[in-house]
Amino acid sequence: MKVPLLIIGGGLSGLAAAIRFARFAPGVLILEKHSRIGGLNSYYYRNNRLFETGLHAITNYAEPGNKKAPLNRLLRQLKLSRDRLDFHQQLQSEILFQDCESLVFSNNFEQIRDEIVGKFPHSTDGFAKLVTFLEDYNPFKTTIFCSARQFLHNLLPDQLLIDMLLCPLMYYGSSIEDDMDLSQFAIMFRAIFQEGMFRPGGTIKDFLDLLLNHYHSLGGNLRTGVEVKEILHKNQIVHGVVLSSGEVIECDNLLSTAGLAETQTLLQEPQPDQKTARLAFVESIFQLPGKRRHILPPDRTILFYNSGRKFHYKSPSDLVDFRSGVICLPFNFEGLQTQEYIEVRSTHLANYAGWKNLETDRERYMVQKIETAGRSKDVLEKIIGKFGSDIVYQDTFTPLTIERFTAKKEGAIYGSPQKIKDGNIGYTNLFLAGTDQGFMGIIGSMLSGVSMVNQHILSRF
Ligand SMILES: Cc1cc2nc3c(=O)[nH]c(=O)nc-3n(C[C@H](O)[C@H](O)[C@H](O)COP(=O)(O)OP(=O)(O)OC[C@H]3O[C@@H](n4cnc5c(N)ncnc54)[C@H](O)[C@@H]3O)c2cc1C
Repeated sequence: MKVPLLIIGGGLSGLAAAIRFARFAPGVLILEKHSRIGGLNSYYYRNNRLFETGLHAITNYAEPGNKKAPLNRLLRQLKLSRDRLDFHQQLQSEILFQDCESLVFSNNFEQIRDEIVGKFPHSTDGFAKLVTFLEDYNPFKTTIFCSARQFLHNLLPDQLLIDMLLCPLMYYGSSIEDDMDLSQFAIMFRAIFQEGMFRPGGTIKDFLDLLLNHYHSLGGNLRTGVEVKEILHKNQIVHGVVLSSGEVIECDNLLSTAGLAETQTLLQEPQPDQKTARLAFVESIFQLPGKRRHILPPDRTILFYNSGRKFHYKSPSDLVDFRSGVICLPFNFEGLQTQEYIEVRSTHLANYAGWKNLETDRERYMVQKIETAGRSKDVLEKIIGKFGSDIVYQDTFTPLTIERFTAKKEGAIYGSPQKIKDGNIGYTNLFLAGTDQGFMGIIGSMLSGVSMVNQHILSRF
């Protein structure tokens, strides 16, 4: 069997790439290791209830008329009508540096601009210059690393404001410690502050089903529960893959969404020494009865909190760093009906090696998971009020959970610190898409899949 395009990974970048290709040519095949598609953004069942693994909010909200907006470009490229998605915008989100300052923002950019003018008057001009600079800046050009922190330092006299702006952007899209590449900063600034956040109606399963049905209607093929063990190549040309069952599938072109280091392993290439840490996280879900919604903040969708003035975004020495985190209240989007159950979700930085050491001692691992959820709840309660006695179910994903279910090395959600912007890793017919191509989040990873197919694959057909 030989296919024109083989895609490793049925996450959002792989699905989007496959749909894009299937619109123009037959024969594309996605290979997904797990029984379910979605990758980092998937779902599972407990107590007959569906839980989402990743979704807090989708960034890059855009009104229908804004033709150049990434969201609308993506829908056009996939030939998906906006009517098939039900859009619910965030209410308001907040960057809260406890005992210091707070910035509230929404999908109206004026709100955060006004907050900054009122609370950081010395930085008003600098912030205006930053916005003007970003309007003309092309983040998609391949350039050498430029520190966003240093760049902001040259523009904004308030160090606290710099840390506050970086906090949500790093939590939702930085694969490096305590800094971001300026291009990544520009992408995330636009995605979160200038465009804003939303979620589709229903669950992530509904969104994935929509994509999958569309893909199948275009004639695309998917195999789940199949793991690629090796990529076959000669003279920098790929000619197929070997599955863990031993089956060989030949292909003309290969797109890998598995990640840079993960793809190099499949190619049996030597791995360069890793100089910088890969960032890992823990995520906890607390489920409460919907009728208790009134005990939680009524108008906050996401809270990015930090204790103190300085934001530390690095792999912690302890298992988890509770000094900062993300609190998501996924029921607080415009127009959502209260369900029988609601959730509070938390995300904190975690130490992969520490969790890995517990892998062989199941009992200690489980104890640490429960302790992590308990400490996370205590921290959250200081910010959003008491909810612990109302919890009916809770679960925690560690870096090991993420590694196991997505094959991301060290459970690093944002992948390698090194990004390959043109997707080219030195092979004639193999390209990277997804997180390690440099686009983060749901819209980012889907656009990555589409743009890699446009740039490298479609021209060959
Ligand atoms: C806890 C959490 C919260 C998040 N919250 C948000 C959010 O609120 N908003 C947002 O926009 N983004 C969020 N994200 C990030 C978002 O989920 C990712 O950026 C995006 O889904 C990445 O998609 P991808 O296709 O590049 O990678 P992945 O989702 O990792 O997909 C890669 C796929 O490849 C498969 N694979 C890997 N190796 C092999 C192999 N050898 N053979 C076969 N298959 C293989 C994996 O199983 C996986 O399905 C969150 C992620 C997590 C984990």
